[in-house]
Amino acid sequence: MDAPYGKLEQLEPGIARVLAHNPSAFTYYGTQTYLAGESEVAVIDPGPDLPEHLNALEQAIGGRKLVAIMCTHTHRDHSPAAGPLSERTGAPIIGCGPLALESVGPRADAAFDGDYAPDRVLTDGDIVEVDGNPIMAVATPGHTSNHLCYSYRGALFSGDHVMGWSTTVVVPPDGDMAAYMASLDKLRQRDDRIYYPAHGRAVEKPGQYVRHLMGHRMQREKQILKLIGDHARNIPDIVANAYPGLDLRLIAAAGGSVYAHLLDLQRRGLVEQQEDRWTATA
Ligand SMILES: [Zn+2]
Repeated sequence: MDAPYGKLEQLEPGIARVLAHNPSAFTYYGTQTYLAGESEVAVIDPGPDLPEHLNALEQAIGGRKLVAIMCTHTHRDHSPAAGPLSERTGAPIIGCGPLALESVGPRADAAFDGDYAPDRVLTDGDIVEVDGNPIMAVATPGHTSNHLCYSYRGALFSGDHVMGWSTTVVVPPDGDMAAYMASLDKLRQRDDRIYYPAHGRAVEKPGQYVRHLMGHRMQREKQILKLIGDHARNIPDIVANAYPGLDLRLIAAAGGSVYAHLLDLQRRGLVEQQEDRWTATA
């Protein structure tokens, strides 16, 4: 497939997309930046700081007022263009909070954009208006602690919380499996018409898809419990058994997700850790 990098694609009235040229094992064809609005516009997930992507976004915005530059979270494929786009256009950065910190130290890893500096942070239910229509923040921690989805005219910009091509990576310390499952359950109780994820195709039956994702994670949890119920295992051993034939580039991410499941199970008193090996509690 020839991915349409740098082209403005109108998806429905008031929603358009520009694909950034940052394909990888984690981003699929790249980050999809969305434009919401008609006479005014908001940019959602401006993406990586690539001059040709910023040029394409400026062209897409055209003469319209850019009301807000909004990020779903601060991974490097989502937020680094926010600052440069704000400088070019004068528009404010409004949306997810900056890097979350804990008393024990940063929860960041190399994938985090430490330069992200919002003008205004939205919490669950907060609204930005575009053409008089609300864009509402829907707090969805799990993939990262600061993740927000955005609801607009029956559509949900789902960022990396729900993607259209692969299951979401949930890697501790910032990624949290219990929070991720709770955020899926939160979406399950909404009635959004369609999801526009940052990576992969639009999700046209969101309720069904979210239930499928929740089932998939519960299967994975059962599988991990079964593997360590036989005998104590370390994470690479669990990954080798639970993800046969996995793309080598994704092994570290799979290990992170297994670790996220194990921490969640440990909190629930179902598993225990001895050195690097995990076992089910009797
Ligand atoms: Zn991400």
